[in-house]
Formats: sequence, C-alpha cells, structure tokens
Amino acid sequence: MSSADNPFKNSDGTELSCIQMLNLILDGDASPEQHQYFKKHLEECMPCYKSHELDIAIRDLLKVKCSGNHVPDDLVNRIKTASQKNNNGR
Ligand SMILES: [Zn+2]
Repeated sequence: MSSADNPFKNSDGTELSCIQMLNLILDGDASPEQHQYFKKHLEECMPCYKSHELDIAIRDLLKVKCSGNHVPDDLVNRIKTASQKNNNGR
C-alpha cells in the first residue's frame, strides 16, 4: 500500500495512528482532504470498521462538517466514547 496519498503525516514524516487521525478530525484541525481520506480509511481499516458505532458517528460528523455547520457536542462525545471503547482492545 502506498502511503504517498495519506494526507495524515507527522512533521517527521511518519503516519498517524487511527486514533490520532480521529482526534485531529474531532479537534477540527483536519483539512477536507483529510476528512475524505479518513472516510475511505474507515471502509478499509478493520479495527475502525469493526467499531460500527464509531463509523456511523464519524459519517454524521463528516456530513455536518462538509456542509459547514457547527458540530453538536453530543455527536463529538459519541465519537469520543466509541473511540475509547475501540481503543481498549489494543
Ligand atoms: Zn483505522
């Protein structure tokens, strides 16, 4: 898999983990390009894909963000809770 098209990079060139990418999006620091990438990533990444609750919450989030609206706090909380659950198995 080529990583050249991964818009998520640390300043030292290493790629971000799923949770780091997610946090960037939740913090509102991700670019539209990164949103697109993460949406695709969800379909390809098993740990992310397994967390269906998280998947749905992020789709909602991306929809809201892409339409330029304010993201409701309860949606952010839903994602944070789901991602923490998801992260416990590691
Ligand atoms: Zn992932």
